Amino acid sequence: MRLRGSANSKLCFLLSLTLCASLLLLMGLQQWGPSDLQLSRSLQPFRQSPQTLGNATLGRSLSKQEKRRGAALAGSSITDSSSAFKREHNHQLFAKPDKLVRTYAKAKGLQDFVKNSTVKDQRGPGPWEKAAALPWDIAPHSKHKMQLSDIFIAVKTTRKYHKARLDLLFQTWISLVKEQTFIFTDGEDKELRAKAGDRMINTNCSAAHTRQALCCKMSVEYDKFIESKKKWFCHVDDDNYVNIRSLVYLLSAYSHTQDVYIGRPSLDHPVEAAERVKSDGSSTVKFWFATGGAGFCISRGLALKMSPWASFGNFISTAEKIRLPDDCTIGYIIEGLLEVKMIHSDLFHSHLENLQQIPPPIIPGQVTLSYGSSETKRNVLRVQGPFSLADDPSRFKSIHCLLYHDVWCPVKDRY
Ligand code: UDP
Ligand code: MN
Repeated sequence: MRLRGSANSKLCFLLSLTLCASLLLLMGLQQWGPSDLQLSRSLQPFRQSPQTLGNATLGRSLSKQEKRRGAALAGSSITDSSSAFKREHNHQLFAKPDKLVRTYAKAKGLQDFVKNSTVKDQRGPGPWEKAAALPWDIAPHSKHKMQLSDIFIAVKTTRKYHKARLDLLFQTWISLVKEQTFIFTDGEDKELRAKAGDRMINTNCSAAHTRQALCCKMSVEYDKFIESKKKWFCHVDDDNYVNIRSLVYLLSAYSHTQDVYIGRPSLDHPVEAAERVKSDGSSTVKFWFATGGAGFCISRGLALKMSPWASFGNFISTAEKIRLPDDCTIGYIIEGLLEVKMIHSDLFHSHLENLQQIPPPIIPGQVTLSYGSSETKRNVLRVQGPFSLADDPSRFKSIHCLLYHDVWCPVKDRY
């Protein structure tokens, strides 16, 4: 009995010990468990955030939620979206060897190239002569050696924008590439003629922003390019900045004898249109097209294949048949009829996208840039420079200064 009694008390002791231990464990779990769980739950989105935010920063505006995530990721409370952006962007640059990093490295290489350029002295020949003397072949090791003179740059404009838009282009990038830049407009202008000479082409197309008028201009652009015998056709609008070095660099990755159609897709899906060229319109055709407002390039090899639907006014009748604008019609001929795939590039930019979202460090590596504004909002790049927003609302002067600081910026305000 005594033995049984002592065994019982031992059992009781052991049981109470187990109970205590369980109680302690439970208390412990209550104290640590939920916050641990909370922590891991709250960390989940942060772990994903480099990618999520990375896409967000490039493709669209950051939502409030994403800004909050960015703030938590950086370990501080952020009220300013641009510092959240910077932090996230830096994080991405250093944490992910992705496309952005490669683009950045390329941009940086270009900047160094510009910095190391031999043209330093501000005295002597004027800035334009110096710029013209810069070595343009910036991709000497690329497979397809490329020269600036191989490119035909078509700028589409209209009479009312000769002063408002073209003057700025002449002050900046066109001045570096006068010989290969052709202005397609719809009215005579003595001043422009004096500046551009034969390279100002009066298309005699209507000065309207209609499909017919725009296709009429594109048709003349195409014919003039074929006539020029140059290797590359690049089309831009008069609100585009063309970064010539990046353009040469990009095109030198391809041969002009290959089928190359490169630009930025206008939509995130292909267009579907009634097939009225090959058939009676009862079937449809799906194709991608490069948005004209961001500029695009076509190799000579491919341009020649487009001839049946594009040359000598045929472009206008092709566009009429499918009832689509000029840039869509280009995509239709190339993808829909010739079955050549467009090369999607994010180095071309129009003001349809939010230009504020382009990370400043990669701006020097882009091929085309733009600006735009609506009644309520100005859509321009984030470029700091010697020119204020009032002096340089498009930011093109500041970009030009950033790219060609040795030859173009005001000396005392140089980077
Ligand atoms: N444009 C034209 N005729 C017009 C209006 C515009 O040729 O009547 C040209 C303009 O010079 C520019 C392009 O079409 O190169 C696009 O025009 P804009 O930038 O005004 O419009 P978006 O389509 O980009 O909003
Ligand atoms: Mn525009």
